[in-house]
Amino acid sequence: MQHNSRLAISAIIVSLLILAAGSVRAKPVTLIVGAKAIFLHTAPVVDKDEVYVPLVALKAVGASATEDGDPKNDEQKFKIKPASGDEFSCKARIISGNAMVPIMDIADELGAVTQWNKDRNTLSIRARLDEVSFDGSKLKVKASFPLGCALVQSSWTKTEKKLILDIPGLDIPRLADDKVKNDTNVPIRLGMSADGETGRVVLDLPQTVKTHIDSPARTREIAISVSPSLKDTPKPPENATMPVNTPPPVPAKISKISHRVRNSKAVDVSITADQPVKYKTYMLRNPDQFIVEITNAELDMKPEDVEVKRSIVTRMRISKFNDTTVRAVLDLTRPAAFDIEQGKDGKVNLSLELPRGAGGLLAGKTIVVDAGHGGDATGARGISCLEKDVNLAVAMRVERLLKSAGAIVLMTRKTDVDVPLAERPGFAGRHSAELFVSIHHNAMGKPNTGVSGTETFYHADDSSSRALAQCIQSELIAANGLPDRGVKSDYQMYPGSGFLVLRGSTMPATLVEVAFLDHAGDAACVRDSAFQQKVAEAIVRGIKLYIEGNPLTPPRRPVIKMEEEPGTSSDKTPTTAQKPAVSGSGSLIPKGRVK
Ligand SMILES: [Zn+2]
Repeated sequence: MQHNSRLAISAIIVSLLILAAGSVRAKPVTLIVGAKAIFLHTAPVVDKDEVYVPLVALKAVGASATEDGDPKNDEQKFKIKPASGDEFSCKARIISGNAMVPIMDIADELGAVTQWNKDRNTLSIRARLDEVSFDGSKLKVKASFPLGCALVQSSWTKTEKKLILDIPGLDIPRLADDKVKNDTNVPIRLGMSADGETGRVVLDLPQTVKTHIDSPARTREIAISVSPSLKDTPKPPENATMPVNTPPPVPAKISKISHRVRNSKAVDVSITADQPVKYKTYMLRNPDQFIVEITNAELDMKPEDVEVKRSIVTRMRISKFNDTTVRAVLDLTRPAAFDIEQGKDGKVNLSLELPRGAGGLLAGKTIVVDAGHGGDATGARGISCLEKDVNLAVAMRVERLLKSAGAIVLMTRKTDVDVPLAERPGFAGRHSAELFVSIHHNAMGKPNTGVSGTETFYHADDSSSRALAQCIQSELIAANGLPDRGVKSDYQMYPGSGFLVLRGSTMPATLVEVAFLDHAGDAACVRDSAFQQKVAEAIVRGIKLYIEGNPLTPPRRPVIKMEEEPGTSSDKTPTTAQKPAVSGSGSLIPKGRVK
C-alpha cells in the first residue's frame, strides 16, 4: 500500500473501516476524466483489470453514491446516481480503510468509454456523445457526463466555410440516425481527433456566422448559438461535394496467391498485389467457405485452383469475379478463426485456424451462460418487459439445452440478482470455462423509429470470439426470422474499450443481442415461450457448430476445373442459403490496416 498517508483521516470519515484486503497490490494510477487529470488524495488501485477509485472521483463523471446496506467483510454496496438515467448498484471494496469503487465497471454502466494505458499506468475515461441537434440557430451537443470547455473555431476560406466544435474527452460513437437531429440543410459531420481524445462536430456552412457559447463551463449539454439563423438554408446540390475531373483509380494487379500449411489446424495464405487494395471478407456456411473479395483489381495471372492437403483449408482458388473485382475462395472443413492484414507493399496476409476452445465434442465442455443485467440493473426497458427478465428466460433455456447435450454449464445468475459486470467474466475465468456466452436484448434508448433485428458482438478483433459470434448469429437469424444486423466488434460501439464482459473474458466470448425490446414487432416475440425456445436452440446450435464443426460440410470434394467466365461457378455468388454470416469491411477489417 503506497497511499496510506491519509489513512487516519480517512478512517474517521469512512465509518465503515474494515481491514484492507491483503490480496490487493497497490499501484499509483493517473485518472483522466474528460481529458482532465483528476487529483485524488487517495490514489486509485489497480487489481485484476479493474481500477478502484475513492467515491469522491465519481463527481468527475457526474455521478454520486449513497451507501446501500451495511458493509460485509471488505465490501460495501453503494447506489450510484448518474447525471442522467437510472440509479444502479455497485460493490465497493474497502482498501486501507477507504471505500473504493470499480470505476471501469461504473463507466461502462454510465455509457462512458474507458481506455487503460498500461505503459503510462493511466486510465482515461471519455464521455460518450449522446445526441447532436441543430435547429438553425442553436447547436446542442449532449454528452454522457459533464465536460469542460469546448473550443469553437470558424474556418472561412474562399472555398469552404466551417464551424468546428472540439470537445476534449468526448468520444463519438456511430450514432443512430435519430440521435442526430438536424432541422436544417446544413450538413453535420462527426469525428474524432487523430489521438482519439477529442470529439469534433463540424458544420459545413453556406455563409459566415457569429457564434456564442451559451452553456456553463462544465456541462452535459454544450450549447452554441449561431447567428444569423441557418434554418432556411437551401439544400446543397446533390453532387456538390463530388470532385470534378479526378481520373479513375488505376486497378491493382493481383499476381500471386500462395499458401503454407502450418499444421492440421492452421493455414496461412498470402495474395500479392502491386499496390494497397481494398477488400471485403465473407464467411459462408453450407459448405464452409471463406471469401476475400478485392475491389478495383484485376487478375494478372492465370486463375488458380489448388488442393490444400491435411488442414482446415481443403481447397483454394482465385479468379476474376467481374470487371473490377477479384475473388479468392477458400474451402474449409469447418468454421474457422481468421486474421487478415495488409502489408505496405499491398500483400494481403491471411491466416485461418481452428478457433480456441473448438474441436472435439460439445459434451464435456465447460460453458458459462451469462444472463445480462439483473436485480436493480434492469437493462433496457422494453414496450412490454424489462431486458433482465427476457435475458434470464432465454439463458435458462440455453442452460437446459446445453446440459442435455452433455455440456457443463455455469450460470452467472439464475435469479433476479445484480451481478457486477467484471464479476461475470471473472467467474468464467475462475472456473476455467472454455466459452462465455452473454445473452442480452437491445433497445434504441430513444423512440425506436423502426430498428429491429439480431446482432452478435465479439471483443476488439479477437478472431476466435468472432468465429463464435458468427456461428451463433448465423443460426439465430436462420431461426428467428428477424433482420440480420450482423456480427460486430464491440469496438464499433465503444472504440478502444468495448464491452467489459467481453474484454474481461480470457476464453472466446460473445454477446448476443436477440431483438429490440422497444420495437413493436420484436417486442411482440420476445416474451413468447416458443420464440424464446427457438432462440435458445439456435444459440446452442451455434455453440455446437463452433465446437464440432458443420455436420453438413463434406470432408473433401473433388477439385473441379476452374470456369473462366464469371458467374458460372456455383461458389461465385452467395445464394440466400449461403448468405454471408458477416460482410463488409466495416465489421471485419480493423480500421487502419487497410489503406
Ligand atoms: Zn443488455
